[in-house]
This record gives sequence, structure tokens and C-alpha cells, in this order.
Amino acid sequence: MNKYYVTHLECSMTGKKYPANEIQGLSEVGRPLLVRYDLEKIKKEISREEISNSKIDGLWRYSPLLPVKNPEDRVTLGEIITPLIKLINSVNYNKEDKGLVLIKDEGRLPTGSFKARGLCLAVSMAKQFKLNHLAIPTNGNAGAAMAAYATHAGIKSTVFCPEDTPDINIREIQSLGAETFLVNGLINDCGKIVGEGKEEVGWFDVSTLKEPYRIEGKKTMGLELAEQLNWELPDVIFYPTGGGTGLIGMWKAFLELKELGWVKGKLPRMVAVQAEGCAPIVKAWENGEEHAPLWKDAYTKAAGIRVPVAVGDFLIIRAVNESKGFAIAISDEEIMQTRDRVAYTDGCFLCPEGAATMRAYEKALSKKLITKQDKVVLFNCATGLKYPLPAVTNKLDKNKKIDYKVFN
Ligand SMILES: *Cc1c(COP(=O)(O)O)cnc(C)c1O
Repeated sequence: MNKYYVTHLECSMTGKKYPANEIQGLSEVGRPLLVRYDLEKIKKEISREEISNSKIDGLWRYSPLLPVKNPEDRVTLGEIITPLIKLINSVNYNKEDKGLVLIKDEGRLPTGSFKARGLCLAVSMAKQFKLNHLAIPTNGNAGAAMAAYATHAGIKSTVFCPEDTPDINIREIQSLGAETFLVNGLINDCGKIVGEGKEEVGWFDVSTLKEPYRIEGKKTMGLELAEQLNWELPDVIFYPTGGGTGLIGMWKAFLELKELGWVKGKLPRMVAVQAEGCAPIVKAWENGEEHAPLWKDAYTKAAGIRVPVAVGDFLIIRAVNESKGFAIAISDEEIMQTRDRVAYTDGCFLCPEGAATMRAYEKALSKKLITKQDKVVLFNCATGLKYPLPAVTNKLDKNKKIDYKVFN
């Protein structure tokens, strides 16, 4: 099944069309380009059962809804269908409640985060267009994913990180073959360096939403979720929102699935979760605005959502509003406490960003924004192991007599 259905690219702001067979970045008005498909044709030629019967275990099973023309250009590091795990101990279910809380654990993807999905597609398209040098600003996970896929494809990569990016991420990126630089600024400062160097260095800018294909990779979270849940989408999705690629991508997936007739009924309410120390989208949404100005002095330990300004701000807010969702901010203290609590009580190691979605779920329940009848999916977007963890302080002296009573 390597059929190709892309018709064109489209400016997400003005609707202007762009050819899909040329290298593209942002549209003329500086906004993201979206990939459009001949959905009518897909509907005639492919059924969802055909997708379900695919032998491919990962995002390439959705290739009719993806932009890569030739299978030889697919760059793959063993992407999998990520599991949905039911929280059992950290949620109080009453017998009469129909709802449930599932974690979609994206930490199992290559390089330990869902950035693999976006960069898998972006690098495959880079291969298709024979690009030879990619550059990216990153808070850690996007850089690692780009480095891995670019290196695998034999493409040179250069990565710029804020100097306080978690050490493990920085080392991972460099180990995976990217030329890695620490910048005394935030991700938007790194983005500026990438943008301004384009002419002189000739690298291609793979920043969030500044090329059309990372969204398509992240879109596969929505396709996968639908298929996993037997084509019945959940009621509410909590998504930790930085640049918003995943939220925008999933919403695009749901609209495409609806048009294909593969899902029926109401689409999920999309909830954008941010950290209190960096909540531009939450603030704009609360004020009824479509654009979110730069958030000053952004701070949060949840590095993946420390994004002070997003080119796709209006797309995030539109998806939230169209889906009758909401936006909510969580403090770092709550984030870290929730991470530790869920790990301790449910055996699920969330990353801080994932923990933010769990806390947002609890807060939304108490504020009556959702109910216990809702089927909820929380996104755990990276493995918890990439972040600093609480220290172990218990000690045991093997040379002394051990008092086994202490283990009871
Ligand atoms: C990138 C990232 C996010 C934010 O994802 P977007 O789709 O860019 O909003 C959240 N959590 C982690 C761990 C990330 O790496």
C-alpha cells in the first residue's frame, strides 16, 4: 500500500495553495503550511479495515494519509504503536462511572519521545527533496529525534539548545551525531539563529511548524488513537502544549478521519495544558484572543513546554475552540508532585509534561469542566527517565547485622 494522495499544501492562515512537489517552509505571510490530500479518492480506494490489517507496526501503516511519495524515502528507526495504559490506582473510579483515564505512553518511541513522529516525517521528506543539512532549535527532545533520523538518513544536522536544557538531552543529541551548540537564551532565541543562518549556511530550517511535515508525523497520534480505540474517539484529550504541533496535528487527523467517514459522532474536546511559568496559549485563550504574544521570563521544569511564543498559536486556539475544549495552566510544584505520585502509585513514569496533563485532568474534574463519565486520554510525551529524579537516601551497611524488621 504505497499510494500517494497529496494534492497540494495550503497556508493555514490565508488558504493560498502551494505545490507539494517543491521544498517549502512557511507561507508568504509567515504562517504554517498544511498538507492536503484527495480524501474523496482515499475514501473510494482504501478502507479503515485495510489499515487495521496492515502488517506495519508503527506510523507508516497510515502511509496513504502521509506525504512521503516513495517508500524508499521512509526513514525509520522502529517506530511502534504506543500503548494506552489505564490508570488504576491514581484515579478514583466509582462503579457507576462510565469514564476512564488512559495514558498514551509516547516515551516508548525512538529517542524516548513523541518528537520522533514529527521528525521521522520531516527527515523522510528532507530525504525525498535531497536536502543535505538540517538545523533546529530545541528544548531537547526535538533535537535528539532530528539528530537520530538525520544521522540514520546520512544527512548533516546542527542543533541549538538553551544552555539550561537538561544535560541528558544535550548529550544525547551530540551522541546521535548532530553538531550541538548551547545558547545563552530560550528556544525562540535559538530559532532566530537558525532562521538568520539559512542564507549563509544553506541549512534547512526544521523548527516547529516552519516546515509542513512535522505536523503530519504528529498527526499519526490521532490516527493511531482512533484505530486503537476501535475507531471510537475519546471524549477529552489533554495535551501538554509547547509549539502545539501535536494538538494541531491530532485535530487535523480527526477532521480527515471524519471526512473519510472512518469515525462518527462528536470529536474529542482538545485541552491545551501549559505550565504556569510559561502559559501564553492559556492566557490568550482566556482573553478570547487568537494570537498569543511572547511570554516574558518563561520558566518551567517541564522543558518540552517551555515555548514562549508559537507560530501556530492561532491554530492551537482554533482547535481548542472548535472542539469545545479549554486551556489550563499547572504550577511546577503540582507537576513534580503529580509525577512522583503517579509513578509511586501506578507504576507509570510520566515525564513532567505528561504529569501536567494528569494534574490538569484532576483540576478540570474539580472545576466541573469535565465529568467522571468522560473517557479521557492523557499524553505522556516522553520517557520519565530523561529528567532529574528524587534521590535515594536509604543506606545499608553489609558489614553490620541487618535488622530485617525494617523491611516490613
Ligand atoms: C515537544 C514536547 C512537548 C510539546 O509538544 P508540541 O506538540 O510541540 O506542543 C511536550 N512534552 C515534551 C516532552 C516535548 O518534548
